[in-house]
Amino acid sequence: MQIEIDPNSGFCFGVVRAIELAERELEQRGELLCLGDIVHNGAEVQRLEEAGLRTIYAEDLGRHSNERIMFRAHGEPPSTYKRAQELDMEVVDATCPVVLQLQKKVKKSGEALKMRGGQIIIFGKPDHAEVNGLRGQTDCEVHVIQSAEDLNAIDFQRPTECFSQTTMSAQHYKEITALIEERMRAVCTTAELPLKIHASTCAQVANRHESLALFAKQHDAILFVSGKKSSNGKMLFEECKSVNPRTYFTTGMDDIVADWLKGVNSLGICGATSTPRWLMEAVARRVQQMTERQA
Ligand code: SF4
Repeated sequence: MQIEIDPNSGFCFGVVRAIELAERELEQRGELLCLGDIVHNGAEVQRLEEAGLRTIYAEDLGRHSNERIMFRAHGEPPSTYKRAQELDMEVVDATCPVVLQLQKKVKKSGEALKMRGGQIIIFGKPDHAEVNGLRGQTDCEVHVIQSAEDLNAIDFQRPTECFSQTTMSAQHYKEITALIEERMRAVCTTAELPLKIHASTCAQVANRHESLALFAKQHDAILFVSGKKSSNGKMLFEECKSVNPRTYFTTGMDDIVADWLKGVNSLGICGATSTPRWLMEAVARRVQQMTERQA
């Protein structure tokens, strides 16, 4: 069997940066707190925890005054920085520069919209850390939407600006903003709609869709390696499956099913922006061993 690892899969720039920062800290100090999973991949979190990283959650902050804490690539709302300051914590900020820029835009738009009685729409997952960081930038009214149904609760006569969580599908964002425009046109009398749509999906993710679809088509079967908590992983897995029905989801070496490999001459291994390269290589080695045993 021929096995190929997708050269375009693996950590995005923001995650590489956060992990390098954590590794440097761990080398110098031997320990570091991280607020939430540094990356949505259990195997990579475990690797870093073995090197001294400790994952804590917002409700634990009070027990760690005066310690150093990393804020991960997803970013945090201003209230978290304030809380860390109150606790005399030293922040190692790994917020992705792309997310940081987006936070600034949401803040600026929120300030202007609030004065005009407007609102912000964020296309994303309501409980996602990045969305939490974005909505915390403003006290203007924010609606987080995931589907067309969520639009029913919004008053489209008001000035509106739209943003997307960076890891959402650019195509889905385009579809939902087209619907927003349609709804607004139905209730607004002005020729120019009070609507601004910001292109805020991340290019690092968007570029992967095309190359991943091409990669998935080239193989008899695909093993998609990702943590279960990764929203980017779920989305890219579905995309692979839509072009190659023999696409299987695996979190690592231990949940590969022998039946998946039956009749497969060419196997592709790929993953999400949170999937480490070493894990895809380990999956490739495990498949090699399984096929050798079967031969
Ligand atoms: S997906 Fe894009 S915005 Fe999100 S962490 Fe990676 S590089 Fe940054």
